[in-house]
Order: sequence, then structure tokens, then C-alpha cells
Amino acid sequence: MSTSTLRWALLGASDIAATRMVPAMRALDHAPASVVSGNEGHARRWAAQHQVARCGTDLAEGLRDVDAAYISSTNTKHYEQALAAIRAGRHVLCEKPLALTARESDQLVAEAEAAGVVLAANHHLPGSPLHVKARELVASGRIGNLLGARVMHAVELPERLRTWRLSADEAQGAGVILDITCHDASVLNPLLGGLPGTVSALAVRQNEWTEGGGQAPDAVMTVLRYSGPEGRARLAQTHDAFTVPHDTTRLEVLGSAGTIVVHDAMTQDASGSITLTTAAGTEEVAVDTDADLYEIVLTAFAGAVTGTGAPTATGQDGANAVRVALAVERAARTGHAVDPRDVP
Ligand code: NDP
Repeated sequence: MSTSTLRWALLGASDIAATRMVPAMRALDHAPASVVSGNEGHARRWAAQHQVARCGTDLAEGLRDVDAAYISSTNTKHYEQALAAIRAGRHVLCEKPLALTARESDQLVAEAEAAGVVLAANHHLPGSPLHVKARELVASGRIGNLLGARVMHAVELPERLRTWRLSADEAQGAGVILDITCHDASVLNPLLGGLPGTVSALAVRQNEWTEGGGQAPDAVMTVLRYSGPEGRARLAQTHDAFTVPHDTTRLEVLGSAGTIVVHDAMTQDASGSITLTTAAGTEEVAVDTDADLYEIVLTAFAGAVTGTGAPTATGQDGANAVRVALAVERAARTGHAVDPRDVP
């Protein structure tokens, strides 16, 4: 199989599939072959609008005659759809969060491995040239000993997406933590060294679009403690929000001999830049940001399927990001620090 012949079942007739993934598939000559939705009429309209030949509500039928499944349904459905696709022998690229419990995301990783299929998470940031370059700068020693990182990821949720993300129940996959903090974790974990050992957080609901109380948090600040070589502590901070219309996103990486700032670091588009400040002054670091982030994910995924590469975020990376997000939720809810290894 060549990378240009991956045939996809789209599980979820979603905005991200329409706006990012189907265009990226077509740009790479992949074939979106079927779309599965919980609603027959929505499936039909979506398929017609995006020229997908087969559509319906039957998962098994959607998974017929394809190589891989791309899952972008609401968060509550990811686990069951990923499991079904893996058990049908399909490679799986699943939207974040992989599942709503750590146990379920770990199970997906184990089942994919046992079935010999590729499982990847559609975290678009770890493979971004900006983040790859930041990790390279750290690994090359340019900023000395790595001390920590700060992520500014406070944005405004577009009006068209103010639906299930704002519902009352975090257990049903709503809220900013599973949506955005999960992405931060996909960046911080490989940068700072695996899973953090301790997570603290405060989360609130700030938006004025929804009536009444009870919705899942739409703004959160976290503090995370990672361990570097010889147990050396590294600290990270994140600010994630659906409610901030006028800010840019940023990643700052702090070392004993320098600081890396990635400007526009957390967007869906690869535009952005990097500055490096050391004792010698501040310099712009050259990065080629022309490639589409979702094409990068798909190209790496196809490489993994054909045995010539690895996903930009593996199933295990996705499971680790879920653990961090769930630990943040628990820490915010209880007011206590949480070890991500302890979340069920
Ligand atoms: P949407 O709200 O657009 O779609 C999610 C689901 O809602 C669809 O799969 C569909 O359910 C249902 N739905 C949407 N519109 C209708 C409609 N008009 N009628 C009936 N049902 C409808 O979600 P997003 O695209 O924003 O997010 C989907 C997933 O992708 C989430 O898990 C999210 O976390 C992830 N995501 C990832 C991003 C990334 O950069 N990696 C960016 C944005 C989202 P059904 O499954 O039944 O078709």
C-alpha cells in the first residue's frame, strides 16, 4: 500500500473533519470513502456537501473497504468507535481526547498493539515545525538545563462550536480541559519528559453566552511538576480558555542558559516564529512553517501504516495527554494536587 492510497472511514460528521481533515486528505490524495454519523439526515447532507460517496449510521458498514478510521465524533463516542475500528482491523487516527478515562485510553493502546494496527491521536501541535524546532533547541543544549515552560492558550471559542463543549457535564466530554489542556499536554509531555508527577489547577466558568450555572469550566490555569534527569524538577504553567478574544498563543521554554519563545505556538495554522534569548542577545530562529499541520499528521500516520515512519502523536502520547487532562479536572474539582498516574 502506498501512502497515496489510504482509504478512510470518517466516524463523525464534524466541523474539524469538514474544515481541516478532509481538505488535508484530498491534498495528499488520500480518499475519504465513507462517513458515519449518529443522525441519518446529517450524514446524508454532510456526505453530499463534502463529496463522500458512502454515508449512514452503521459503523460496521462505514468501516467496510477502508484502510483506516478517522474519529472526530463528540468526545463521548471516541472510545467505543476506536475500539470497534481496531477490532475490525482498521488503523485509527482518533481525535483528542482518545477516551474519557485513563483506563479506556490505555485499553485502546493495548488493543491496537495486539491487533497490529496503528493507533494515533490527532494532536496537531507536536508535529508542528515550531514545536519540533523548540524540542531540537532544547536537546542541543542551547538553553542549558531545562527548567520549565509556560503555555498561553487562551482563545475565544468560535460561535459555531458553542454546543456540546459548553454542556454541564465534564464526564460527558465537555469543557475547556479536555478540549485545550489536553493539547497543551501533548506539547509539554514530550518537551519536559514524560508525564508530570503532580498537577494543580483552578478552573472557572466565565462565558456570558450560556444561560445559568452548571456548565463545565471554560477557563483554567494549571501548574505541573515534571521530573528531568536525576529527578531534577521542571515546572510548567498553562492558561487555557474559550473566553479570551484578543490574545495570541505562546509557548515559553525556560532554561539555565536561555529562553525560547514560540509565538503563535498553539494555533491550527503553522504560521508563527521562534526567538531565542541567551547571554549573546535575542535572535530569530529560522523555521519553515509552510506545511499544513493536519497534512503533517496524516503524512506521518501513513508512514506508520506503511512501516516507514511514526505518528506525530502515538496512541500512547494520546493516552498520556488524557491522563494529564483528567488529573487537571480532578485537581480543579477537589482543590488538591493530583498525580496523573492515579487517575482511573
Ligand atoms: P462538531 O460539533 O462539529 O461535531 C461533533 C459531532 O457533533 C459530529 O460528529 C456530529 O455527530 C455532531 N453534529 C455536529 N453538527 C451536527 C448537526 N448539524 N446535526 C447532527 N449532528 C451534528 O465538533 P468538532 O469538529 O468541533 O470536534 C469534533 C472532535 O474533534 C472533538 O473530539 C474535538 O475534541 C476534536 N477537535 C480536534 C481539533 C484538533 O485540532 N485536533 C480541533 C477541533 C476539534 P455524529 O458523530 O453523530 O455525526
